[in-house]
Amino acid sequence: MIDADLAVVGAAELLTLGGAAPRLGAALRDLRIVPDGSVAARDGRIVFAGTTAEFRRAVRLLPAARTVDAAGAVVLPGFVDPHTHLPFAGWRDREFVRRLEGATYESIAAEGGGIQSTVAATRAASVDDLVDLARGRLDRMLLHGTTTVEAKSGYGLTQDDEIKQLEALARLAAEHPMRIVPTFLGAHIVPAERRADRDAYVAEVAGPMLRAIAGRGLARACDVFVDPGAFSAAEGETILGAARAAGLALRVHADQRRACGGALLAARLGALSADHLDYVEPDGIEALRRAGTTAVLIPGAAFFLRDPRDAPARALIDAGVPVALATDFNPGTCPTEAMTAILPIACLRLGLLPAEAIAAATINAAHALGLAGETGSLETGKAADLVVVEAPNHRHLAYRFGVNPCRTVVRGGRVVVDEGRLTLPRARG
Ligand SMILES: [Zn+2]
Repeated sequence: MIDADLAVVGAAELLTLGGAAPRLGAALRDLRIVPDGSVAARDGRIVFAGTTAEFRRAVRLLPAARTVDAAGAVVLPGFVDPHTHLPFAGWRDREFVRRLEGATYESIAAEGGGIQSTVAATRAASVDDLVDLARGRLDRMLLHGTTTVEAKSGYGLTQDDEIKQLEALARLAAEHPMRIVPTFLGAHIVPAERRADRDAYVAEVAGPMLRAIAGRGLARACDVFVDPGAFSAAEGETILGAARAAGLALRVHADQRRACGGALLAARLGALSADHLDYVEPDGIEALRRAGTTAVLIPGAAFFLRDPRDAPARALIDAGVPVALATDFNPGTCPTEAMTAILPIACLRLGLLPAEAIAAATINAAHALGLAGETGSLETGKAADLVVVEAPNHRHLAYRFGVNPCRTVVRGGRVVVDEGRLTLPRARG
């Protein structure tokens, strides 16, 4: 018998997402569904995932075990959100209204709005402020079924302010149930006061800033925004080359608003992910396939910016590029914490099938973070990160938009959301 201290029993559909990671091509829609399925865990790790009949034969519950009744529900791995800008201060709701009134993203940036306004608010915040703000956002992510989140700096843009953002993440990683994967994004934009000598800023990011951050173990990856309004591919290569030498994994904000070599750069440097890709061209797609770099698609940003262009998701999938989904949670271009909000947008705008969107938001997103051996599927030995969704089948996750169907969330074997409520003290932010 297998001893367990947690059991989730009798799901109408258990989506294990087991098997190969990442899911490529037609396999992206293979969720490995077990009808009438159950999962068991011990000490935070999955010890059983299979049919309820097998569960009854094979699993013995320890005396203090917790049993979650999943009858009539769908059980799937906790969502992995592989691209967010979590630790910021200052919302940009006025800018949202200005864009609705006709202002463009570029004209708002030229007036000192956009990313620069978040930089000013984040610089003015203390590390305690950032921890308090981000804690409430992490709580909302958990409530919406996300159990792993990547989180970038990039609103400090000085050594001290970048470190402050990453220190806030380190504190949250120690106190909050969410699994947090920190990324250094000193190359988000050139800050206004450094524009007269951008080469010096690039050299500082690639030199002293990177050394200080890597030396303190504050980031697992380094990201660069390659964009006409941010950094060139050549500047990105300088920074990412230094990051690789410092032992960090690499990511690129690539080809979001124009094809500008971002996907090619990510592939050439062996980046874990190339993100956005709304304007990626065929040579970029082919390069990503060859390199095995995950395309992290962010349909919520194009939706929120009312950009008519979407990433060529079907061409990426058909080419055999690993495809993942992320929120891009940030105050300017996608202010939602919820992966459940992104699944319908991915289906309606990118043309993904519900099953493809779910695989892109779980196992392939875990792969994009280098964590596919740890989370993203319900398989023996992995962390017990899972969600019980109030739905008769998995299609409802993309079909019933604008509602939160997550009923119970388990992170590392611990019930962190129970009947739709956090089991930890509630924060605001
Ligand atoms: Zn981003």
